[in-house]
Amino acid sequence: MRAIKSIAEMQFYAKKIRGEKKSIGFVPTMGYFHDGHLSLMHEARLKNDISVVSIFVNPAQFGKNEDFSIYPRDIERDSRMAMDAGIDILFIPSNEEIYPQGFDTYIDCGNIGNILCGASRPGHFRGVSTIVTKLFNIVKPDRAYFGQKDFQQSVIIKKLTQDLNMDIEIVVLPVIREKDGLAMSSRNIFLSPEERKNAAILFKSLQDAKDIILSGERNPDNVITQIKNKIEEVQKIKIDYVCIVDKNTLQNKSVLEGVFIIVIAVFIGTIRLIDNIEIQIT
Ligand code: AMP
Repeated sequence: MRAIKSIAEMQFYAKKIRGEKKSIGFVPTMGYFHDGHLSLMHEARLKNDISVVSIFVNPAQFGKNEDFSIYPRDIERDSRMAMDAGIDILFIPSNEEIYPQGFDTYIDCGNIGNILCGASRPGHFRGVSTIVTKLFNIVKPDRAYFGQKDFQQSVIIKKLTQDLNMDIEIVVLPVIREKDGLAMSSRNIFLSPEERKNAAILFKSLQDAKDIILSGERNPDNVITQIKNKIEEVQKIKIDYVCIVDKNTLQNKSVLEGVFIIVIAVFIGTIRLIDNIEIQIT
């Protein structure tokens, strides 16, 4: 595995690889790897000639009072894990090179970035869209891999590539979970043992909601109320939102039919966790 820090060197290799008519599969991450990241890496490796993983904790997608400074980082451990996963290139750019003095061009992803997580994290998806666009320009991938864990992000990235005519296939892969159902996340290490135990209610409430829908419930408000009640039974969890939305537009569903997603965000203490479940009614 080659570790690359400079943008020019990454661009040089990307051009070389594409010149050799080899495909590039790309996994953008903020590091502190877990099995969710590894599942994206395995697929990128499997479906492309060359796999590239980036690690960059992007300040532009964190709000002023969010956890940028304490976001978990362990480049040595991550490098070993990426190497063991068979990754060809690990790209670790510096903040100074990504956002040099005078940097002032951002991607506005429109209304879809202002709802759900965007409503409680203003500017978050502007930061995400900007860094992903920059990384795409540097790494020049044929395919890029994202997790359904960050469902809104995956929809926004797909729309971004479509709206801006980027010739990149966006592949979205399933949520990888802990044994008790909690979606893996680099932020889970911030949970105390009690909070970690309580966090299992997120996925449990989504599964129970799926069960009542598959048993015939078609009123989204009833389902949302049930999820909220379940979560509120657990102490010290504050709900940010529970919504049932269209898979492509993220607009609220008024009747449950076809394919849709239940998305939730909560605060456990100061830690914000998100999860979702896809449901198809045939
Ligand atoms: P992050 O490092 O948290 O920015 O995540 C990098 C990529 O990994 C994003 O596309 C995430 O959606 C994806 N990812 C994070 N957690 C999971 C998970 N539990 N299962 C699948 N993909 C994930």
